[in-house]
Amino acid sequence: MSGKALEGRVALVTGASRGIGRAVAIDLAARGAHVAVNYSSSEDAARSCVAAIEEAGGTAELCRFDVGDAEATTAAIAALAKARARLDILVNNAGITIDGLLLRYREDDWRRTLDTNLGGVFHCSRAAARFMARAREGRIVNLTSVVASMGNAGQAAYAASKAGIEGLTRALARELAPRGVTVNAVAPGFIDTEMTAALPEAARSMYLALIPLGRLGTVEEVAAAVAYLASPEAAYVTGHVLAINGGMYT
Ligand code: NAP
Repeated sequence: MSGKALEGRVALVTGASRGIGRAVAIDLAARGAHVAVNYSSSEDAARSCVAAIEEAGGTAELCRFDVGDAEATTAAIAALAKARARLDILVNNAGITIDGLLLRYREDDWRRTLDTNLGGVFHCSRAAARFMARAREGRIVNLTSVVASMGNAGQAAYAASKAGIEGLTRALARELAPRGVTVNAVAPGFIDTEMTAALPEAARSMYLALIPLGRLGTVEEVAAAVAYLASPEAAYVTGHVLAINGGMYT
C-alpha cells in the first residue's frame, strides 16, 4: 500500500474515541483520509484522537452520535456526507460488551447490546450506502469478534450481536456489489485495549494459553487490516471476514 493511498477520501470511524477505533482513525488519517471521529459520550477522548491526527499532519473532525439511535445516526451521516461532498469509507467499530450468564441476563442488557452492536452497523451502513451507491464506490468495514464463531460462556448477547454482524456483512456485500461498494469485516481475537485490560489476571492467563502466537494482538495490527480492506487495493475483496486472532480460532 502506498503511503498516501487514501488521499482525498472521507472516512467515518464509529467509536473512535479510544481502543481499536482510535487506532483505525489515526491509521486511515496517516494514509491521507479525512476522518470523522465518532463517539457517543467520551468527548475528551474523542478530541484527543482528533488532536493526535492533526499533530501528525492529518485532518479530522468530531462526529457525535449514538449508533443505536437510528434517527440521530442517519442525520449525522447525511450531514457529514453533504458537508464533505462524499463519504468513501465507513468503519463500523463502535461496540459494547455487557457480560453475564444466561439465566440471570437482563432483558434490557440483551436489547442494549443488540441495538448498539448489530443495530449500529445496520443504521450506519444504511445511511452511508445511500451516498456510496450514488458515487458507485465505497468501502464498509465492520468489527466483529472471534466469539462470533467460537462462542464464549457469559457473552451470549455479545456473541449473537457479532455473529449477526457477520451475516449482515455477507448480505450487504452481495446487495451493494453492483454499486461498487465492498463490505467486509475483521474479527479480532484478544487485543490489548481497555476492554481486555479490565479482565481479571486469571482470565487473561487462560486466554493467553489459547493463543498459538503467545501474546495479545495490538490495536495497530487490527488497524492495518482495516486499512487494507478500506484501500483501493482491496477492490476485489467483498463479503470476507478476516480473522486477527494469533491463531486462537480458525
Ligand atoms: P472500547 O475500548 O470499549 O471502545 C469502544 C468505543 O465505542 C468507544 O470509542 C466508545 O465511545 C464507542 N461507543 C460505545 N457505544 C457507542 C454508541 N452507542 N455510539 C457510538 N459510539 C459508541 O472497545 P475496543 O476494545 O476498542 O473494541 C472496538 C471494537 O472491536 C468493538 O466493536 C469490539 O466489540 C471489537 N472487538 C474488540 C476486541 C478486543 O480485544 N478489544 C476483540 C474483538 C472485537 P463512547 O465512550 O463515547 O461511547
